[in-house]
Amino acid sequence: MAFATLMYHDVIDGSGEYDVSPAQLLEHMRWLDGEGYVAESAAAARARLERGDALPERYVVLTFDDGFRSFLRAAEVVNRFGFSASFFLTRDLCQERADHLDPAEVRELSELGDVGGHGTTHSMLSKLPREQARAELREAREWIQQTTGKAATTMSAPQGGIDRNVVRMAREEGYAVIGNSREWPNRGPQVLSSGVLHRVPVLRSHSLDHVKRIVSLEPRFYARRGARFLLREALWTVMNEEQVNRLARLRKRLIPQ
Ligand SMILES: [Zn+2]
Repeated sequence: MAFATLMYHDVIDGSGEYDVSPAQLLEHMRWLDGEGYVAESAAAARARLERGDALPERYVVLTFDDGFRSFLRAAEVVNRFGFSASFFLTRDLCQERADHLDPAEVRELSELGDVGGHGTTHSMLSKLPREQARAELREAREWIQQTTGKAATTMSAPQGGIDRNVVRMAREEGYAVIGNSREWPNRGPQVLSSGVLHRVPVLRSHSLDHVKRIVSLEPRFYARRGARFLLREALWTVMNEEQVNRLARLRKRLIPQ
């Protein structure tokens, strides 16, 4: 049985593309609950697959990236419906930014959901020298262990920067699930064997209908996303990070979301 993974960021009444309001998140969770979906963290999904359990017919994995302070409130909304979620934190963002979780809040969050890694500096791991990428993976995990007393088994790749080497190193460093930003459905056996979890972003501009299309695995939605992904991957292989970012900025100017 295939399933989707949702990727949220800050849960706030903000103006950023990636800001989803608390009311939107509540609407999404209420809809999932009403439709009989089981919504879980990446760690819970992995545990199910390792046990060899069949996934529920209506199943979705919930993830939140970066480490915003709003994650505490988001976790409460998610948990209210009996769901769970993964929260992927970037160490330096949490240590340096006021709107991110402080150590006490990271500990609190680890009681409410699965806390995983999202690098130390939020760099694109696939564009870093290999040993530097490995250090990011390792140090992010050490920081979570020191802060929460728990070992992180899940992570997501900052800016979706992932390749075979990053996945291999992440698994060697102790991450069993590595979330990317590829807008594609997941199949249980593949997640179990590769460790890679495809994730679809949820943005402020997305309607509830958009979220429904993602989680119900609407073929047309994924066909379009798949084509876009292949184009982007092709560009990434021939361009450096600065060029990719410049192109993304240009695209945003030309095609407002
Ligand atoms: Zn991020």
